[in-house]
Amino acid sequence: MRFHKAELFFFLLMGLVGLGGAFSWLAYSAATGGAVVGGVDTAGKFAFMAAVLAALSVVCGLFLIFPIMSRGLRERGKLQKMTESLSIRSQSLEHAAVTDGLTGMYNRRYFDDALTEYLAAFGRIDKPIGMAILDLDHFKAINDSHGHDVGDEVLRQVADCLQIFTRYHDVVARLGGEEFAILSPNITERQLYNLSDRIRQAVAELNIRNGNVTLKVTVSAGLAIWNGSESGEELYRRADKQLYEAKRQGRNRVCAA
Ligand code: GH3
Ligand code: MG
Ligand code: MG
Repeated sequence: MRFHKAELFFFLLMGLVGLGGAFSWLAYSAATGGAVVGGVDTAGKFAFMAAVLAALSVVCGLFLIFPIMSRGLRERGKLQKMTESLSIRSQSLEHAAVTDGLTGMYNRRYFDDALTEYLAAFGRIDKPIGMAILDLDHFKAINDSHGHDVGDEVLRQVADCLQIFTRYHDVVARLGGEEFAILSPNITERQLYNLSDRIRQAVAELNIRNGNVTLKVTVSAGLAIWNGSESGEELYRRADKQLYEAKRQGRNRVCAA
């Protein structure tokens, strides 16, 4: 049985009181030399009273106070454990609310919030922000011919590509279905183009195995650099227009305004 620190201190206190009582008893015995209480001096009487009080304190402490203190400490411990597990649970719920279960990436909700915050923050220091929207090409055909599970595996591998190529302060999210987005602060149009094109090439080089079949996929991307005054929604719409243009031009390419 393990004792709480407060319990150990309590035992120590009881020990000291008991020791005090024992010394008092010795003093009393020395004063009486075995005679009755009535025949001793005042110091001897005090020693006798101190020994009795110490004995009573130890009995009260061990049989009345200790059980109450012990129960209180155990209950407090249980409560603390419950609060800790609740807070871990609420943290994981918070995490689940902003991430996508399939890829582990941030979801659209997180992306939209980050977009608003980034525009406000980087607008103040007059730094550029770029947005890339990437959409898998003919993804429906992959699902139709290889099944939904293979489609899911494609999404996971494409998500990994995006994570590998982006920097730690870029916000990378799966907006939904087979559409991903990157919000990249402090980047020029050329750098954003190079980044997106590297991802496009990496996706095209993926070899996704399904039994003895190796699957190839491609992605198209649309880019836009924030003009410093437009809303996040307007920036998204401009990037999306470029994505549409990339699809129109034949897919597996990057288009910028
Ligand atoms: P495009 O090149 O024009 O983008 O064509 P597409 O086939 O990629 O686009 P479309 O919008 O026609 O189809 C998207 C498909 O993505 C349809 C849907 O079944 C599939 N999809 C959406 N979410 C998921 C998912 O979580 N897992 C899987 N496996 N498929 C998904
Ligand atoms: Mg698509
Ligand atoms: Mg799509």
